[in-house]
Amino acid sequence: PATIGMVGGGQLGRMFAIAAASMGYEVVVFCAAENEPAAQVAHRCVFGRLDNADAVTRFAKQCDVITLEFENLSAEMIAKCSEFAPTYPSANVLATAQDRLIEKTTLRDASVPVTPFAEVSDADSLIAASQTLGWPVIVKTARSGYDGKGQQRVSTQSDAASVPWESADSWIVEKCIEFDREVSVVVARTVDGRTKCFPVFENDHCNHILDVTTVPANVSPELEKRALEVAVSVAQTLDVVGLICVEMFVLDDGVLMVNEVAPRPHNSGHLSIEAMEVSQFQQQVRAVCGLNLGSTDLIGGGAAMANLLGDLWGDDGVSPDWNAALSVPGVHLHLYGKQTAKKGRKMGHLTATADTVGEAKRRVEMARNALAKS
Ligand code: ATP
Ligand code: MG
Ligand code: MG
Repeated sequence: PATIGMVGGGQLGRMFAIAAASMGYEVVVFCAAENEPAAQVAHRCVFGRLDNADAVTRFAKQCDVITLEFENLSAEMIAKCSEFAPTYPSANVLATAQDRLIEKTTLRDASVPVTPFAEVSDADSLIAASQTLGWPVIVKTARSGYDGKGQQRVSTQSDAASVPWESADSWIVEKCIEFDREVSVVVARTVDGRTKCFPVFENDHCNHILDVTTVPANVSPELEKRALEVAVSVAQTLDVVGLICVEMFVLDDGVLMVNEVAPRPHNSGHLSIEAMEVSQFQQQVRAVCGLNLGSTDLIGGGAAMANLLGDLWGDDGVSPDWNAALSVPGVHLHLYGKQTAKKGRKMGHLTATADTVGEAKRRVEMARNALAKS
């Protein structure tokens, strides 16, 4: 293909567009407005809403292949795109990945280990499900949550009524897992079924938002191998073409459980831009274009990524002094071009590489702390 369509204007679309352009492709972005992160770097844009069939058609007609950066798109919109060009991932993958109940049921039925869960709809069904799961539990809206939005920990029977049951149509409850650590695996898969995994990423969250990712993960070689096997089986079960990120909990006895999946590049994979032979965005290009998948080997000893949230901006909207972070060796700055900083909004990230993962983490945290003080 010569022209790649990207549905979505966010930072994942932006970093994809940069990777695709550097490989010689034309990138057409479908999004709402010209100030969106991906629109700023695209060759061309088609502006429209996702439910606007005319705009979607105008976009899809320009593309040889179409991919996306966000799973909560209407499956009909993706089906419409695929009338004009191969669209990866497919509407089927999206329909599964945008509903936690369908996602977990599909994976469990395929013998993929997932967190114990049940469908619930009110306080009574939550109390009943918790007899089996055991308190505390985590209640989540089945659809459209991210960064921990739409989730709540419920510790006792008497708190079951505190869930805003009326605010969503469909709910899932999960056992609250006392995990040792959280990891993720990004795997690429081509239309003819070839797969390639990135190494296991270790993820630290803060307020339910990814904070720092490190690689290599602090897991045994045996667990590393099993995590990659789980990720490949998820990609095969869902018949994903493109990328899928599989988020997992590691328990202290070495048990792995899938938390959730995202059929697209993932925040935990951002460090692959500097730390791996081929980045997750280059790999997405390769996968959707049916090219050879690249080596995902780590370059050097270790790497770490720290997110830059809107909280770092002053109340007056003044941005930090980026130069303060750039004095730290091995540090790379990525900003997404978002116009307004809000608390909790992902505005950019820093990646540090070093001889060891410990040193990389120290560098990235030192760089981010320097921004906070600036
Ligand atoms: P994302 O931004 O990753 O898409 P999300 O809103 O879809 O987030 P989850 O990944 O399901 O939400 O949960 C966010 C975080 O909350 C997890 O990374 C984990 O730290 C914690 N969490 C979620 N579910 C559980 C669980 N069943 N047991 C323990 N912790 C959990
Ligand atoms: Mg999610
Ligand atoms: Mg998650």
